[in-house]
Amino acid sequence: MTATSTLESPTNYCELPSWLQECMLKQQSDQADEHIDLICRAFNLAFELHKGQYRKSGEPYIAHPVAVASLLRDLGGDDVTIAAGFLHDIVEDTEVTPEEIEERFGADVRQLVEGVTKLSKFNFSSTTERQAENFRRMFLAMAKDIRVIIVKLADRLHNMRTLEHLKPEKQQRISRETREIFAPLANRLGIGRFKWELEDLSFKYLETEDYNQIKALLSERRDDREARINKMTEVLRSRLNKLNIKVLELKGRPKHLYGIYQKMQRQNKEFDEIYDIAAVRIIVEKNEECYRALAVVHDAFKPIPGRFKDYIGLPKPNRYQSLHTTVVGLNGRPLEVQIRTMEMHHIAEYGIAAHWKYKETGSSDTQINSDDEKFTWLRQLLDWQNDLKDAQEYIDSLKDNLFEDDVYVFTPKGDVVVLAQGATPVDFAYRIHSEIGNHMKGVRVNGRWSALDLPLTNGDIVEIITQNNSHPSLDWLNFVVSPTARNRIRQWFKRSHRDENLARGRGLLEKEMGKTGMDALLKSEPMQITAQKCNYQSVDDLMAALGYGEITQNQVVNRLREVIKEQQPVEKITEAEAIANLTSEVNTEVTAPAKGSKSPIAGVEGLLYHLAGCCKPLPGEAIIGVVTRSSRGISIHRQGCNNVEKIPGERLVPVNWNPIDEYGRPLTYPVDLQIEAIDRVGVLKDILSRFSDQNINVRNAGVKTTRNKPALISLSIDIRDRQQFEYTINRVKNMSDILNIRRVSQGDS
Ligand code: MN
Repeated sequence: MTATSTLESPTNYCELPSWLQECMLKQQSDQADEHIDLICRAFNLAFELHKGQYRKSGEPYIAHPVAVASLLRDLGGDDVTIAAGFLHDIVEDTEVTPEEIEERFGADVRQLVEGVTKLSKFNFSSTTERQAENFRRMFLAMAKDIRVIIVKLADRLHNMRTLEHLKPEKQQRISRETREIFAPLANRLGIGRFKWELEDLSFKYLETEDYNQIKALLSERRDDREARINKMTEVLRSRLNKLNIKVLELKGRPKHLYGIYQKMQRQNKEFDEIYDIAAVRIIVEKNEECYRALAVVHDAFKPIPGRFKDYIGLPKPNRYQSLHTTVVGLNGRPLEVQIRTMEMHHIAEYGIAAHWKYKETGSSDTQINSDDEKFTWLRQLLDWQNDLKDAQEYIDSLKDNLFEDDVYVFTPKGDVVVLAQGATPVDFAYRIHSEIGNHMKGVRVNGRWSALDLPLTNGDIVEIITQNNSHPSLDWLNFVVSPTARNRIRQWFKRSHRDENLARGRGLLEKEMGKTGMDALLKSEPMQITAQKCNYQSVDDLMAALGYGEITQNQVVNRLREVIKEQQPVEKITEAEAIANLTSEVNTEVTAPAKGSKSPIAGVEGLLYHLAGCCKPLPGEAIIGVVTRSSRGISIHRQGCNNVEKIPGERLVPVNWNPIDEYGRPLTYPVDLQIEAIDRVGVLKDILSRFSDQNINVRNAGVKTTRNKPALISLSIDIRDRQQFEYTINRVKNMSDILNIRRVSQGDS
């Protein structure tokens, strides 16, 4: 038989556990199903590959994987888990590649072996408590398959059991790691039997004296204690039987050493003062029998008030369930009693692995298959809120902390950084510090240069290279995943790239509105109003926002159009009031400038046009163009002009006043005036000052004086619109020296 030949191998002697021998026998006799086959093949490969390797103890190496596989089998592990137990060290220690493992044993076994190998690479020395917690969380997160962690725990447990063969420094380091990382992890997973043993073993190496003392004291009083407890259990057993409560197990046992030690430390007490050195455990069949059994216990022995705990009604986060109570024992000292069902007991011992025990179908669905079940259960294990630093982080985490969506990476110093799935080195840099992100030049991942946008994976060691003159790129916004990084990059651009943004914003506006006159446009009043209406302090701020993408050019242009429209007076000015005495015909002919530059009238570019004499439109009034039959081109009328109403629609052209010229100046319109005034010294100067007050340009001024007659003053002025015109004309008219003022057409006299 194969097993025997294994035992006979002189270089590889190792006593095989009976379960494995049975497997091998079955396989030999062709009774093996695929599960047994997988287990045997895994063992055989491990056996071959570890041949000639020895542990520090002098044993053949294969003893270790066999022990690990046995621990996993005891926990109820499936064939895949047990196979991974055999193979867990082969990638590290031999030439075999993960691909080969997959080929021979399937993807699941490969994943477990790879997972365990990866976990083994971390060095956990000098961890703070917080870091330790991060490591534990990382473990849970990294192992997509919880079986990876259970294999790793079994590996660690066997290594702890054989720790005596290592050097003291190594014993210390490994024991500390076990206490800080692995025992709590076993506790998180509810695997009580691993947790207790891991704790006691690290206790043995870390506080050797205390360990030995407690151990001695426990065994010193063992007979005494056991006799006492036996008496109590007899009393309880007969009472429970009387009530027809079926007792599956009833016995006392000492608590584990590290638990007693912790209690002594915590309560600052001597060993003798610790009363619940031992506990009695009652295992019954049904939940309700737990409570009935409790009543029996409390009836037989006096309960100590305040010591009762109902973990059945309120299970611990790791799903531990039991009733706990403390009663006064036979020697007058307190004794803890735990009451539970067999299923609760299994959960207490095996934790998450109890699933395996309770789904004993012998097939591969004994593993925890449903993602849902797996992750709900895992999430319960983790108390996320504890680690949250501030409200923002809390909100961020709500968004993206679905457990399986996290990536755990390291700083070069070994600190764990938790990022969202898909996070890149840029996300990492900004998580460390915004200045690191803002001056990031490159990144080394696991010692190699890497692209800034390459998503990080669990366990990566990330080293950000910074340089003072390096700065963020807008491109980063395309791939960062964390809101923090996104906001910080934006902030940086807002703050540091103002000039660039201004230029970009201006460029965008030029695309929309043409390049000419842009400087003037940006300085114009409508533009300033537009900026304010868009909630920016200045036109520059508006342009920067445009360049940075906070606002679009369409939004700016539309708002600008609205502003210009609003600035044009809507009210119609009555003939009478306006220029009652400006009676002469206006017949100004102008050829509009070529297309591309601005003319006073929009819509007639390059065409001959003139302002209609009938309605004398002024800038600011709503106007319409009429195509004339003569060679005079387009005639510009006020909208609503009686003459226009008679003209058929096809001859009408939509036109508008242009508010600004190609230099951004408000467009003006030339008007010639004739003023009759009482001739006196300084009258011309006084009139001109009325115009200059209103920023009205006077292009030409002439005075004709005739004795005993009013002075005749001719002026050519540039006016912007009808409102300005009327206002100013009225001011001049109100001068006491002015007799008459009228508007004349060009060439008139
Ligand atoms: Mn190992």
